[in-house]
Amino acid sequence: MEINSNHSWAEPFKIKMVELLNMTTPAQRKKKIKEAGYNTFLLRSRDVYIDLLTDSGTNAMSDRQWAGLMLGDEAYAGSENFYHLESAVRECYGYKYVVPTHQGRGAENLLSKILIKPGDIIPGNMYFTTTRLHQELAGGIFHDIIIDEAHDSQNPHPFKGNVDLNKVEALIKKFGPEKIPYLCIATTVNMAGGQPISLKNLKDLRKLTQKYGIKIILDMTRVAENAWFIKQREPGYKNKNIAQIVKEICNLTDGATMSAKKDALVNIGGFLALNDKKLYEESSNLCVVYEGLHTYGGLAGRDMEAIAIGIRESLSDDHMDARIGQVLYLGNKLRKANVPIVRPVGGHGVFIDARKFLSHLKQTQFPAQTLAAEIYEDSGVRTMERGIVSAGRDAETGEHHYPKLELVRITIPRRVYTQAHMDVVAESIENVYRNRRKFKGLKMIYEPRYLRFFQARFKKL
Ligand SMILES: *Cc1c(COP(=O)(O)O)cnc(C)c1O
Repeated sequence: MEINSNHSWAEPFKIKMVELLNMTTPAQRKKKIKEAGYNTFLLRSRDVYIDLLTDSGTNAMSDRQWAGLMLGDEAYAGSENFYHLESAVRECYGYKYVVPTHQGRGAENLLSKILIKPGDIIPGNMYFTTTRLHQELAGGIFHDIIIDEAHDSQNPHPFKGNVDLNKVEALIKKFGPEKIPYLCIATTVNMAGGQPISLKNLKDLRKLTQKYGIKIILDMTRVAENAWFIKQREPGYKNKNIAQIVKEICNLTDGATMSAKKDALVNIGGFLALNDKKLYEESSNLCVVYEGLHTYGGLAGRDMEAIAIGIRESLSDDHMDARIGQVLYLGNKLRKANVPIVRPVGGHGVFIDARKFLSHLKQTQFPAQTLAAEIYEDSGVRTMERGIVSAGRDAETGEHHYPKLELVRITIPRRVYTQAHMDVVAESIENVYRNRRKFKGLKMIYEPRYLRFFQARFKKL
């Protein structure tokens, strides 16, 4: 299965306000990326032309969301906007309780602190950076349970976010169910290239874990995008809408962490959603320590209003057709130019296989980091590394983790760029591909202790 969108799509919106972009010269970019230590996270945004660093918090809000900001009820306690958010979570996702947090990792912190005891095992369908770190900080040990196909960038499996049930069973046998407080299951797995999990797999997983009394906590950051793939690819879902599929996914889990900066079409915010009253009470109590009172969780009232509206907008089928249609459009162009990309193309971006692209470099020469820097130098397009730098070091041995996937992520913000921007991006990457033999890799000269990919600095070899 390849890119399988055979109908045209167009944006289900028109543009009311524009943000002007800065153009730069090749000489300026060469200087700026050097000053940034060849880390695209350390560039100033004014030096970036098309910013595809992340789809996180970079969404364009609708006129309704902007209007919602004016309805901000900035009361310290019991803000009206909290109740709007709570209703949206209950109606759209089906969870009973919601604790707002400043963003997704705030929810991960609360969840990890309430559910994980030192020495616990937390299986997940591939790791996510902040998620795994919070699990580890709470004393837990992450274990990857994603299917092997997910680690192969060319395997065309339609649901590369699926869990290998044998891996789960092996962990339960080895450690015992009492050591596994929950499974952390991500929708459209970010680190695998935005790959979805199927409803069948989630149902099978639910059956298996219920047998042992193990919870499933969803990382629901991109649940609507996952639902779109289920509608496209999974037998029996063609005639359901995104909203129905999303609800079905959530119903198979006990709770969720959410970064509203992705699917929910806002610039900041997140929440923890739970069905169990006791766990909710514990987490709303911890919220007071780390985020703020449980009816604002580090957010302004107006932010909660924008999230409540964004959640509903994110479940529109037209929105999702255009959202993922744009990602597939870029993926298709790159594939036609023979640029090695992760297949099938995922939901929130196109991922370049930097190992194949820069096959003359060793992984310790940071091929993905190198490629992201070269793309910026070529055209001012900002992408990011998802490979050995992002994977960090083993907490015990201090050695690099050596992930199989060494990727550059071209992430597309929602409702922000046009198809013409995507053409420019594709042309630039094709140009870098033609010149690929010239690039010699990087050396890390500064390495921060936590989540090093954000702040590490490099120099050219
Ligand atoms: C972004 C993200 C998070 C963390 O959310 P933040 O809002 O950035 O703190 C967690 N999981 C996944 C899959 C994400 O993409």
